[in-house]
Order: sequence, then C-alpha cells, then structure tokens
Amino acid sequence: MDYAVRVSHYLDPVTFELSRDVILLLAGGHVAEVITGGEVSGGLDGLAKQTLDLGDAVCLPGFVNAHAHLDLSHLHRQVPRGLAFTDWARAIISGRQLPEPIIQAGIDDACRMLAATGTTAVLDISVGGDSAPALARHGIRGVLALEVLGEPGRAMQRCDEIIRARFELDIERLGSDAGMAAAPTALAGIDYGYSPHAPYSTGAELYQLAYGRAFGEGRVCTTHVAETRDELQFVLDGSGPFHDMLSSLGVDLSSFAGYGETPITLLLRDWLGPWLPAGAQRAAPLLVLVHCNYPSGEDLQWIERTQPTICWCPRSHAYFGHEPWPLREYFDSGANLVLGTDSLASNDGLDMWGEITAAALAHPDAPRTELLRMATVNGRRALGLADDVADLAIWELPTGFQKPELEQLLNLCVGNHPRLLASFSQGQLTARAI
Ligand SMILES: [Zn+2]
Repeated sequence: MDYAVRVSHYLDPVTFELSRDVILLLAGGHVAEVITGGEVSGGLDGLAKQTLDLGDAVCLPGFVNAHAHLDLSHLHRQVPRGLAFTDWARAIISGRQLPEPIIQAGIDDACRMLAATGTTAVLDISVGGDSAPALARHGIRGVLALEVLGEPGRAMQRCDEIIRARFELDIERLGSDAGMAAAPTALAGIDYGYSPHAPYSTGAELYQLAYGRAFGEGRVCTTHVAETRDELQFVLDGSGPFHDMLSSLGVDLSSFAGYGETPITLLLRDWLGPWLPAGAQRAAPLLVLVHCNYPSGEDLQWIERTQPTICWCPRSHAYFGHEPWPLREYFDSGANLVLGTDSLASNDGLDMWGEITAAALAHPDAPRTELLRMATVNGRRALGLADDVADLAIWELPTGFQKPELEQLLNLCVGNHPRLLASFSQGQLTARAI
C-alpha cells in the first residue's frame, strides 16, 4: 500500500454515505480498501509505506473543476467590470496577445490556487496545451480540451501539432514522423480532449470533425453554448451584437442569416445528432456543454434525450449578471450536472467551495448534497474517471458539526469554507496543511 490515512469521517463516492472512524488504504492511484469502525487496533503502523493520521477530519471526493481557462489566469482583475459580453470577449482576445512568460506565470498561480483549495482534477479549455506541465508539476489531474476555431481543416491540423508537441502520440493517426525519439514524455494524469469554441463562432463541419474524433477516441469534447441571449439571436437569425463583433473581427457574414434554430437544439439534434444516442440508458457524459444559460424551444427535450454533461459556472454567471440558471429544469432532465469556475477573467478565485456557495445563494432550496455531487463525482463522470480513484480532499471538521449527516455538514461549509488538511490526486499527496 502507498498510503494509510485515518480520518474521523469519510464520504463514500458512490453511495454518498458518511462513515465514522475510517482508515483508507491507497494503492496504485485507487482507494484499495476502506476500513471502518476502528477495526485496526494497532493504529496505522505497518499498513502502508506512508501514514497520515488526520483525526477530526472529513474526507470528501476531490473537487473536479469542469470548466476553466487556465491560460487566461493572467487577466485576473485586469478586465473592467460591467462590460457587455461582446466587449468583454474583445478584451479577452487582446489579453491573449500578452507575452508568453506572463501567460505562463498566470497558469502557475492558477495551479497553486487549485491545489490549495482541494481541486484534484480540472477540465481546462486550452488554446495551446500550455497548462500541461504546470498541472503535472502540481500533481493535479488535467484534461486539456484543445480549442478549435477557424477553418476546419487547418484547425484540426493545428490541434494535431499540439498533440504531437505536448502529449503522447498516436503514431497510427499522426504518422511515424511523429518521431519515436523526439516524442514528448507523457505527463502523469494529463490527457487531452477537444473543444469546438461555440456555435456562434464555429460551424457544423468543425464541430463534427472534433466531436467525431472525440467520440471515436473516447475523449472529452466540451463547448460553450447558449451563454447569452445575444448568442441565441445570432444563431437564430444572424443579427445583433454578435454579428457586429464577428464582422469587426473580419468574419465574412454577408451571406449568413442564422441557422433558424436555438443553439442547444442545433448542436444536439442537427450537428452532433449522428453520434448521439437517443435514450437515457446510453448517456453522453463525455460531451460537456458549458453554460446553457438560456434553454428555449426544444432544448430541454434534446438534453433529456441525449443526456450530455451540463456545466454551470455560478460565480462567472453572477459576474455577467445572467438570469437565474435553470437548475431545477436541468435536475429534472436527468443530465449529468457539474460545476466549473470559468476563467479568472470573469471570476475572483478557483475555489470550488466558492462555486458551491454561489450556487446555494442563487438557489437556496437546492440540496447541498446535490451541489457537492456536481462539484465532485459528477465531474469524475464527465472526465471518464472510475469511482474508486484516489482523488480525495480532506477537510477539518467544521465547528458545530455533531450529527453524522452530510447535509448538515455541507450547510456549515457553505459560506464558511473549511480548512484543507490534505489532498490526494491519482493516489499521490498533492497538498498538506502544516
Ligand atoms: Zn469558458
């Protein structure tokens, strides 16, 4: 065994039940055994190579941040508040032009913030795969969804160049010129996926190339969709602020009059329909739709039929002043719901307790247990991780916690974030309070 860890409370990631007096044995990146009720009388000695006795502490599944843009972290507090989305987007496009060392320093800071707040895995939308080394250094599991945008053939080729430079190679697809000797070393826990940007910026062909490949390779594919009402208008009839923004960026829209459909239905029914199974028994959790702030028309029916993952970013949502997120409707749809932070250009932190707290503030009636699922095990499902991965965050028990009930524990944690005592990602200790 690699680690033996003793905690007073442990949350089972499958049943979501709290057990008392637990010793966890971790081996090979998995939770190999859970010993409950103080059955080991001799203590932790001899149970594993390393031992950790954390006493009054609760071990929860590590947080999974299901939507981040780590390569925008250098823009933290750099963009004026209160901009319309299209003006904010223009500021972000300029912000990407800053020198590489500034961008890299932002990514490093962001990884430290993730590790310090119990996040053990992140789905990062990445333009160039730049966050891979920093995430690996901090021991955080990462899926880098490579953003594809622009002319479809060229966009996918660019994607391959990044894969060739950054990740372990698929020689069969990329060809032997990938270079056996020059192949990059695979980074533990770091993988890639695809991210067609959004239906207002990316057409059917590129969506189909990217999602078709993700589907065939069993990888994550994530995209922004139905984020603003202006997006709905543009996708429907080609008009509005998005028309003006894209035209000013040089996109030729002279013959574009919209798709005559809402963005979610357009994606799930028309563009990705051929790959998406109908019926809840064959869900598509590796397809992660981000925001979905404004479902309308037949959108909810198509979500119900195809069962994708849907990601809400509560604090970024509040930053843009969106209408209330339709949490109840999405609960009822049966889709896999997750939480993300979005980038530090529209959020003040990457702490997932902050997202749970903002979600609880926006929806006071939402069960805290469901919000915790969204921030943890549902995220694992979206990344295709097994239930027993040793991705764990261990927190000091909040004062006032007596009843062994999760909902009460979470009520104490919302708005009053507990102290992180230790966290594990892929079975390795990634953070430890002194
Ligand atoms: Zn985003």
